[in-house]
Amino acid sequence: MKMCEDTPDKSGYNLVPTGKAAFYLHSCPVLTWLYLHGQLVVAPSHVYIKSGKELDAQRFSNKRSIDLTPYGKADWVTGTQTSPVIHEGSRGKRHNEPKRAQLRHYLWAAKQLYNIDAVGELHLKKGNVERVEPDHEAVEKDHARLLEIMNGSMPEPKKIPICKGCTNKDWCWQ
Ligand code: SF4
Repeated sequence: MKMCEDTPDKSGYNLVPTGKAAFYLHSCPVLTWLYLHGQLVVAPSHVYIKSGKELDAQRFSNKRSIDLTPYGKADWVTGTQTSPVIHEGSRGKRHNEPKRAQLRHYLWAAKQLYNIDAVGELHLKKGNVERVEPDHEAVEKDHARLLEIMNGSMPEPKKIPICKGCTNKDWCWQ
């Protein structure tokens, strides 16, 4: 069964949560549901995807990573093997909580897979860096919520600030 960052593993009522699922959970319930059901279509030419790929190529090439399979893939890692710092880059100006949740999920995954207590650093615009501490209890609540959303019907869209730049807005608000 395929389990990777882009495709959450689903078997019956189980779910192997990924970093992207945690990201969508803190972004929008509709995006979360679509992602968990493999129905989130993002055109590769979309401006945010394109600029994100370019940014990733600049920031993360030649950097060490950590294998968090099947729970996702962090951008890069520094520190020692027993005390790593897991890094994520964010392109957002204001709405950074989804990225914090994604990073907390990776800290949880490092604990699950290797029993190591990693900390996170979120790299924001203009070189700002924010420390993200582990919160495994919050992450496990996120995972329970993801399972609920996956097993429910698609939530009704509600207008939120990120709708403006969302690739799905034509579908939600036609
Ligand atoms: S347009 Fe808004 S409600 Fe619809 S998926 Fe995007 S963020 Fe969610």
